[in-house]
Amino acid sequence: MPPYNAPTVKRTIEQVEVAGARVLMRADLNVPLDGGAIADDQRIRAALASMQHVVDAGGRLVVMSHMGRPGGRQDPALGLAPVAMRLSELLDRPVLLAGDMPVCDAAAEAVSAMADGDVVLLENLRFDPREQLGDDGFAAALAAMGDVYCNEAFGAAHRSDASLVALPQAMGQRPRVSGLLLARELRFLGEALDDPTRPFIAVLGGIKVADKLGVVEHLVGRVDCVLVGGAMAYTFLAASGVDVGASGVEATCVDDARAILEAAPAGGTRILLPQDHVTATSVDNPTSIETCAGAIGAGRVGLDIGPASATAFAAEVAAAGTIVWNGPMGMFEVPPFDAGTAAVAHAVAAATVRGATSIVGGGDSAAALVQQGLLDAVTHLSTGGGACLAMLQGVSLPGVEVLDDAPGDNG
Ligand code: ADP
Ligand code: MG
Repeated sequence: MPPYNAPTVKRTIEQVEVAGARVLMRADLNVPLDGGAIADDQRIRAALASMQHVVDAGGRLVVMSHMGRPGGRQDPALGLAPVAMRLSELLDRPVLLAGDMPVCDAAAEAVSAMADGDVVLLENLRFDPREQLGDDGFAAALAAMGDVYCNEAFGAAHRSDASLVALPQAMGQRPRVSGLLLARELRFLGEALDDPTRPFIAVLGGIKVADKLGVVEHLVGRVDCVLVGGAMAYTFLAASGVDVGASGVEATCVDDARAILEAAPAGGTRILLPQDHVTATSVDNPTSIETCAGAIGAGRVGLDIGPASATAFAAEVAAAGTIVWNGPMGMFEVPPFDAGTAAVAHAVAAATVRGATSIVGGGDSAAALVQQGLLDAVTHLSTGGGACLAMLQGVSLPGVEVLDDAPGDNG
């Protein structure tokens, strides 16, 4: 089976001199807000080790992040003040939110006034329309505020925004390194994909069929088995001629799904679709719950894989050496449609205890692990759904490509 050629190991923030240097760190501090308060600070905590390293080593830390979708305009509801406060608590030192725009005189002045160990947070990068346009002038203005660039934003590494690609390019001869979290993501995903212990299986679910179709296509010929559950299963079932009742089918994806199913045997990959389904009369008001084997009845929607499918999927997981999981098996937020996801989650946890490598990506998949109390039961929980899918799809990550290779790494 062909290898993935996942990104090479990059030079990390620990492999560069930061004492006295202004370190421009692009993090993904896009935390969920609830009435202006941070509902979950996991993303801030995830980037903390790299930030702590810089301040402990006497660097001057300039943190950058986006938040939400302000659409290139200042939006008070999406300002980073709550992030600055939380970051200050976590680092146990002042964090100055500099200026009301990421690039402005106040920000430049704040950075030039920094002493070693100081921390400045630039305002939401997406307040400036040039961020998402990948603008070189915006990148140059950011680059002027740093001596070292550090990407610690795995969650955004599949994007080509200015702070992720044009900025490291604008650094010229100055170092552009990866943060510790990004390095960990690349190591786990890269190693699993390049040299997996077999059987290597992928478990895919969730709703984003169009996003995940390319992933399944790339997995064919590379993994031993793909288990398809969640809402995306109905598109595959429809493609294979199964009557899925009123379940959501992505009409534009059916032909591609059929082509993938047809190509799989020649690639040596088995694709398993659910054989039974927990169904109801509607997604919004799921009443008259019934399990259907095979075809789903007229007017019914599948909301979870059925018990026989859950058993079959769990058996595949139990026999695997490497498991990559992205996307829940059903509408797991609403019991009893959580049973299929729970069965897979527990099978993945048990396989991990037995020595298998398990990697989970995707926000909702992580939420499902939390729901089952299994957050720490997997080998690696990825912080980037989209970036993780891009790696599974064999797509290069622009924000990673531009970073310096690790010292001594020639290729
Ligand atoms: P992830 O965030 O892990 O990448 P997705 O965002 O693609 O996963 O999909 C997660 C969502 O899919 C969840 O909100 C879940 O309720 C929904 N979902 C999964 N299966 C079904 C289904 N059969 N019917 C409706 N919604 C589903
Ligand atoms: Mg999701």
